[in-house]
Amino acid sequence: MRFMAEITHTDNKGKFELPEYDELTYRPVLPKSELQHGHYYVGRCRNASVARWNANQQCFYHWRKKFDRIYIQKIKHPVDEPEFDVFRVLKELAEPKFEIPLRKNAKFVGNPEDLFQHNAYTWCSCEGQGLCAIHFGRTPGSTASRS
Ligand SMILES: [Zn+2]
Repeated sequence: MRFMAEITHTDNKGKFELPEYDELTYRPVLPKSELQHGHYYVGRCRNASVARWNANQQCFYHWRKKFDRIYIQKIKHPVDEPEFDVFRVLKELAEPKFEIPLRKNAKFVGNPEDLFQHNAYTWCSCEGQGLCAIHFGRTPGSTASRS
């Protein structure tokens, strides 16, 4: 296989082009232009796989679970944040199992396990073959396959 170096210039701190496919899961990435205010999205940042877009503030809101606490955090879209963690959007979530209020001091009401329902979708890079961080050690085919 021929190796072709593709240099991405992320050092010019402004807008930069996103790849069309997520580098971890190889799923298509949803462009920022398709985000709608108040809608929920499946994607990936360090602490969440579901987030809600606030167009007025140009950022996502998500629940973060840390030990026994669950609280609202805000995070930016990759085109607006070249340095810190961002939320990479993969698809819209039509029927979220929990609400994400667009305010910082909201209280979580719901099942905490639902927060991680989409983790395999956003973190799996092995197609259920037991190779990635989500599926490591599990029998291939025993977990939800790609959908
Ligand atoms: Zn996997």
